[in-house]
Amino acid sequence: MSRGQPNLEHTTMAKYKLEYIWLDGYTPVPNLRSKTQIKEYASFPTLEQLPNWGFDGSSTLQAEGRSSDCVLKPVAVYPDTTRKNGVLVMCEVMMPDGVTPHPSNSRATILDDPDAWFGFEQEYFLYQDGRPLGFPEGGYPAPQGPYYTGVGYKNVGDVARQIVEEHLDLCLDAGINHEGINAEVAKGQWEFQIFGKGSKNCADQVWVARYLLLRLCEKYAVDVEFHCKPLGKDLDWNGSGMHANFSTKHLREVGGKEYFEKLMAAFAKNLNEHIAVYGPDNHMRLTGLHETQSIDKFTYGIADRGSSVRVPHSFVNNGYKGYLEDRRPNSQGDPYAIASRILRTIAEVPTA
Ligand code: ADP
Ligand code: MN
Ligand code: MN
Ligand code: MN
Repeated sequence: MSRGQPNLEHTTMAKYKLEYIWLDGYTPVPNLRSKTQIKEYASFPTLEQLPNWGFDGSSTLQAEGRSSDCVLKPVAVYPDTTRKNGVLVMCEVMMPDGVTPHPSNSRATILDDPDAWFGFEQEYFLYQDGRPLGFPEGGYPAPQGPYYTGVGYKNVGDVARQIVEEHLDLCLDAGINHEGINAEVAKGQWEFQIFGKGSKNCADQVWVARYLLLRLCEKYAVDVEFHCKPLGKDLDWNGSGMHANFSTKHLREVGGKEYFEKLMAAFAKNLNEHIAVYGPDNHMRLTGLHETQSIDKFTYGIADRGSSVRVPHSFVNNGYKGYLEDRRPNSQGDPYAIASRILRTIAEVPTA
């Protein structure tokens, strides 16, 4: 198309702000990074229309300075209603050849199955001035009890709910499948739940929801604390988890007590492999107190919030069919790795 000669096609083009989002190379928990590029499209771009892009990996612990270009490969796209013509582009990080996954790319190699459904319950604290929102300067607020699903200024303060509601709307606008939100057990602690079919699909949504929360909180001068036990393990304040609810087609449609017991035996056998990807510092949180099981034990129980895997009443009532809740993943865990580990253990158990 030649410049300066508007034609019909030209005048219908609009400049879109493409926010490319990726996970950096920090360990044990990667940080979210993002940058914007502007491109013209006739309408909201599809994934196929989004080009690969590059960034300086030497600034994100993803490359040496001498050969620093890493490649951003778009893998999921969502509307961003905070910006005119805004687009959120979740990316995988690739090596300079554009096809080899970077070692930090935890998404590229995970197990996936569109019939595996996941519901992640992301807990987190809102922080300001180095302490949870609503904690007095020095000291502590009234003990836990009224905060979980609480209402009223003394329980939730004056700004947290505004943040949480705004975040919910941003996520729903983006097409992220939020299923609910609630105030949590500790003061300043909140939760959102995201449900998705397929491990990559669901985990992409969790990462983008985390991104939107972090970005939203900038204007409130509030930080999001995703650590699983920010107040330490010796005080009577809950930690943050990311319970992973899961079901496969077989669990939903066939199930059965015998299959269920074999599945739980496989979970018990793979205790260490699960804990390895369930988030850092989980020994501080999985203590056997505060609705958790100890980190070195695997147990399951019907409606038991002190077990590693909680079996909903509905599961048993339906003839051992439905979904299960692994309560061990923590709030800083990588949902790609968590979902993949669950699928790996499930794959060890024959369904026939
Ligand atoms: P609780 O706080 O009581 O543990 P929540 O309501 O916070 O429970 O979370 C339950 C989660 O279970 C939701 O995120 C929901 O999406 C998920 N879930 C419900 N049914 C299924 C299913 N069949 N497969 C996988 N996850 C499911
Ligand atoms: Mn919940
Ligand atoms: Mn919770
Ligand atoms: Mn739960």
